[in-house]
Amino acid sequence: MSACIFCKIVKKELPSSIIAEDENVLAFMDIMPARKGHILVMPKRHAETMLDVSEEDLAASMRMVKRVSVALQEAVHPPGFSVVQLNGEASGQTVFHIHFHIIPRKTGDGIAMKWSHETYLAGEMEHYRVKIAEALKAQSKTR
Ligand code: 5GP
Ligand code: ZN
Repeated sequence: MSACIFCKIVKKELPSSIIAEDENVLAFMDIMPARKGHILVMPKRHAETMLDVSEEDLAASMRMVKRVSVALQEAVHPPGFSVVQLNGEASGQTVFHIHFHIIPRKTGDGIAMKWSHETYLAGEMEHYRVKIAEALKAQSKTR
């Protein structure tokens, strides 16, 4: 994807602070960290979101997320960390090349991933469950 800034980072057309890379995945420092030590992990092959990334690239990315998380813990010792991945503008995604955030956390750091809770009406949860389960079943038939 020629206009994608993360593809440009993959191709080294734009500079980045790389932590690790292999054939399929790049781990690098977020240039505007939510907290110092904020890391991004992405597949090198362009995909916008969870919906179009291949299972292979996703699995390779998650292996790197695991390795980099352990390294962050050993090197920086944050009291906690969040692994976050956004899909679509409504979720807050700003760069449309799928990536995982690994963000060091501490109590009261003000990073908001808190939500209030909706309440299901009678039968509503089952309605959602059935719709999603049926879509999943249809998906596995086409594979
Ligand atoms: P999103 O909101 O799409 O999940 O996150 C995009 C992330 O990419 C943001 O945290 C932002 O700071 C980071 N980012 C945007 N442009 C660049 C860049 O050119 N280089 C690096 N290293 N990070 C970037
Ligand atoms: Zn891209």
